[in-house]
Amino acid sequence: MNAASEGPFGILLDIDGVLYVGDEPIAGAHDALGELRELGAGMRLVTNTTSRSRRQVCEHLDELGFEVAVDEVLTPAAMAVAYCDERGYESVELIVSDGLREDLAQFGEPAVGARVDAVILGDVGARFDSELLNRAFRLIMDGAELVALQHNRYWRRADGLALDVGAYAAALEYATRREAVVVGKPAEAFFQAAVVDMGLNSAVMIGDDVEADVGGAMAAGLPGILVRTGKYRQDALPPEVTPTAVADSIADVPALLARILPH
Ligand SMILES: [Mg+2]
Repeated sequence: MNAASEGPFGILLDIDGVLYVGDEPIAGAHDALGELRELGAGMRLVTNTTSRSRRQVCEHLDELGFEVAVDEVLTPAAMAVAYCDERGYESVELIVSDGLREDLAQFGEPAVGARVDAVILGDVGARFDSELLNRAFRLIMDGAELVALQHNRYWRRADGLALDVGAYAAALEYATRREAVVVGKPAEAFFQAAVVDMGLNSAVMIGDDVEADVGGAMAAGLPGILVRTGKYRQDALPPEVTPTAVADSIADVPALLARILPH
């Protein structure tokens, strides 16, 4: 636990699969969230959601009984805005859900025939079809950079596992021979930005995705705790990631942290 032993540590928490699955809160998650707030010097909920704005994430959490402020929620959309601003990208094609557009409102529709600097790829659910992917493909072949809001392979919907944004990004990368810039988890910059946002130097990441949450955080130098809820599948654990610790669910994490972190 090197990173966490350097001083006050923050709590970074994934949301989907950690606090709830579908619309069902995980047993004990409400109490655990409160205890984690007490344990940490700060808290950020780092979600790879590409279907909801930060405001909508908070509203949904509120409906499920979790009290979280908008400022505590960090999403890939916020990182994509920062990335495009840094590079002076103004003409940006958005392939994102309608709900996310309020967090990307600074980008208007690129003018017809205008050069497009970047394609921001998020989740459009059933609207992902060959026409849409072909449109993105052509823009990238014409010089636009592919900015993927996340690179998850799949996620667990109410009716089972489903392809996630990473699978579509990989199709575009394969066809264009160009690598996407990933701004969501597991990008190290996302975790680093979350720690800086709390005004801290270190944090512990808790998530149900061994690659995006745990592997990403550990690559950024942070301890990563895997919970066996949500998309956790024992048979899908990649051999290259060894979590700092594994807990049956978020309910067990406060006691685990109290044991292994400095006071
Ligand atoms: Mg998750």
